[in-house]
Amino acid sequence: MQDTKDRTAGAAAPETGAFDMIIVGAGFAGMYMLHRARGLGLKARVFEAGTDVGGTWYWNRYPGARCDVESLEYSYSFSEELQQQWKWTERFAPQPEILKYAQHVADRFDLRRDIVFNTRVIASHYDEDAARWTVRTDTGAVVTGQFVVMATGCLSSTNLPDFKGLGSFKGRTYHTGQWPHEEVRFDGLRVGVIGTGSSAIQSIPIIAGQAKEVFVFQRTPNYSIPAHNAPLDPAYEAQIKADYAGFRARNRRMMPGFGSNNPRNEKSVFEAGEEERRAAFEARWNRGGLGFQGAFGDLMLNDEANQIAAEFVRGKIREIVKDQALAEKLAPRQAIGCKRICVDTGYYDTFNRPHVHLVDISQAPIEEITPTGLRTGGMDYALDAIVFATGFDAMTGTLLKMDIRGRNGLTLREKWSAGPRTYLGLGVVGFPNLFIVTGPGSPSVLTNMIVSIEQHVDWISDCVQYLRDHGKRSIEATEPAEISWVGHVNAVADATIYPTCNSWYLGANVPGKTRVFMPLIGFPAYADKCEEVKARGYEGFALGA
Ligand code: FAD
Ligand code: NAP
Repeated sequence: MQDTKDRTAGAAAPETGAFDMIIVGAGFAGMYMLHRARGLGLKARVFEAGTDVGGTWYWNRYPGARCDVESLEYSYSFSEELQQQWKWTERFAPQPEILKYAQHVADRFDLRRDIVFNTRVIASHYDEDAARWTVRTDTGAVVTGQFVVMATGCLSSTNLPDFKGLGSFKGRTYHTGQWPHEEVRFDGLRVGVIGTGSSAIQSIPIIAGQAKEVFVFQRTPNYSIPAHNAPLDPAYEAQIKADYAGFRARNRRMMPGFGSNNPRNEKSVFEAGEEERRAAFEARWNRGGLGFQGAFGDLMLNDEANQIAAEFVRGKIREIVKDQALAEKLAPRQAIGCKRICVDTGYYDTFNRPHVHLVDISQAPIEEITPTGLRTGGMDYALDAIVFATGFDAMTGTLLKMDIRGRNGLTLREKWSAGPRTYLGLGVVGFPNLFIVTGPGSPSVLTNMIVSIEQHVDWISDCVQYLRDHGKRSIEATEPAEISWVGHVNAVADATIYPTCNSWYLGANVPGKTRVFMPLIGFPAYADKCEEVKARGYEGFALGA
């Protein structure tokens, strides 16, 4: 695997000191948290493991990486000047442009002077007597903070399965989530791609455009909707920018926090005749993107309804892929949307190319990585490069890698041994003054994440202001509130078809991980609940003097 981390570049001298707020991570969450913390007059410090800002868009540099929420929506709304002045070039911006945007925000708001790069937080311990956190980093820094904000990301710990023989391969290896900074080309190579999630589906067509041969090792096929990506239409951009604030506000009332220009059709698929169904699915397929899921109101509530939409997509796969036996292998059977829908440019069509081979490993897992390739189903595949598109230890992985200890030395790992438990996804009983941005139990990964990030950071900022105004030093979720919230998150999920397949939302992609549906479904009701909690003086939290 390529080591993308240059430990010498920009390494800061180990730091000591006392801060009001310590923020871990400088992706979109950490950057905005720093901006708001400064606005409150807090002395804040950010630690970031990477050498620059951008988080997801700093690490995931694989070919074809781009957002699947339209760029005019997948961007900050907190600054009218920023959203008016920044110009996206495409409907779905590519990774380099999103990274440039993050860098622009860092420069524009002068964020870098309070961010320590190339520095990983390894521990965070709460000192009850002082009511402060002591934070330690891998560079030897030891700092204290009244508040700690974990802006560490939901998809920031790569999942590299423990394949037998992993280290023995003599060729080049890559993980999509830790892609090298220099350009990687596959010209003339035999490339194996393991996985068929969003990262694989975006990268495979481009890898296939370079490589001599591509072998895609598929355990579970995924549903992918075409992006129909294109240069951003200036007329559409002007229309949005004429009332950007209104557009953002309407998006915040959408279940996933985006898509008010293509809202979900609330009608049941069963109320529609054959022709109307077909027309609705076609229209959304032709428009492209995640909005496909909103063709009817009950697709995620009823298995039969869901299978009608699923069968439409399977039909499209059969139309695109010429070899019908291959099309059947590429056609998913699980409920559509149960695993996150992918958005692609030419994915299924790539399998019509003679040098692209699908290897179905659903019945015969990868047995071993060998010095010359890999073995599965008793066959040896000779490879020059392997791309692990095997995803992430989502939502909890990054948090649990740190040694986080709250009151009475309770570790977060012990606390979450049977799955994550939070109140609102923001706070955890036993861990005062520790906030998680887009934590498990909040809508996070089921939304436009920048909308969720802004909502969380604003809530945390208001909360800190409130504590200061009311002479309080600490805030901690209460046991009854946390118990009831965990029950609520599960009950909402259980009323849908989300828990019916092996998705990373459930932790099912990581062997041994407790199977719990981690995000809360539905942004608007959640945001309303957070507002209500705030209006009632932080109901469900205990405030300490
Ligand atoms: P991140 O961007 O993950 O940033 C967290 C940062 O914390 C990282 O830089 C990491 O290095 C740092 N960090 C973690 N642990 C430590 C530690 N212990 N010490 C120091 N630093 C640490 N969401 C959407 O809504 N729309 C999309 O189109 C979309 N596309 C995506 C595409 C890809 C390839 C991936 C992987 C995710 C995508 N997401 C998308 C989700 C994406 O993660 C969020 O949109 C968003 O970028 C998250 O921002 P964040 O700041 O919360 O976390
Ligand atoms: P992913 O969706 O978790 O996909 C990982 C793939 O690897 C799956 O196909 C999985 O198969 C396979 N896999 C995992 N372990 C394996 C093993 N031991 N053997 C064989 N195959 C194995 O990860 P991802 O593609 O990186 O995407 C993660 C999330 O990031 C997305 O859902 C999305 O939220 C975000 N993302 C968004 C975009 C975008 O379009 N903007 C792009 C990339 C990522 P199974 O399905 O059988 O587990």
